[in-house]
Amino acid sequence: MADEVTRRNTLKTAGIGALGIAAAGMTGAWGGEASPGGAGTQAPYEQAPLPYRYDALEPVLSEEILKIHHGRHHAAYVAGLNDTLERLKRARAEDDYAEIRALSRDLAFHGSGHILHALYWDSMTPGGTEGPTGELAEMVEAGFGSVEACKAQFAAATKAVEANGWGVLAFEPVGRRLVILQIENHQNLTIWGVAPLLVCDAWEHAYYLQYKNRRGDYVDAFMEIIDWEGARQRCLAAMR
Ligand code: MN
Repeated sequence: MADEVTRRNTLKTAGIGALGIAAAGMTGAWGGEASPGGAGTQAPYEQAPLPYRYDALEPVLSEEILKIHHGRHHAAYVAGLNDTLERLKRARAEDDYAEIRALSRDLAFHGSGHILHALYWDSMTPGGTEGPTGELAEMVEAGFGSVEACKAQFAAATKAVEANGWGVLAFEPVGRRLVILQIENHQNLTIWGVAPLLVCDAWEHAYYLQYKNRRGDYVDAFMEIIDWEGARQRCLAAMR
């Protein structure tokens, strides 16, 4: 797992072209590694290491929060996803689908929980970056009028999520435009087919140890450490 971090950092500093970086980025914490083919031989999901040190996002997010959030909460979704897939495998083997409704819900919940957390870590970078830039800036201006309006809508949507959920900036491939969505839990309120570019975790476990009930302060601080370059790379990949 340490090799993966080293490889990513090597690619980041190698100065390769934008599309090359996008392709490399898709194999990182967000994209995951492809499973080998063959019927029923897919490997379990694995959680990638954080793309930076646990204390790298301080003072916005404390080392304690990142350790618990990545090491326990995110890890639990990966375990839940793998457990659900095992139970589905057993159901197929026994031709017993009595629990298919619960299993399907668990698959959506844990699967979305894993994917959103993988993207959450890649949505942030120590110190943040200027942006959005390039093609993403053009998409943002076409969709929202201005960068400031996009950021304001993203922050407002994230702050206003009811109970537990997420704020999401996504590319919608049918209309080929950007949309900002709220997610409830991990799996509700999406538009099918969208590619999430940037996500902010609005579950209390993401901020409560540090911000208590002040979700708005956490979201405002998150806006300052966004990795806009990563979002631009994901947008380019989604637009291909
Ligand atoms: Mn979370």
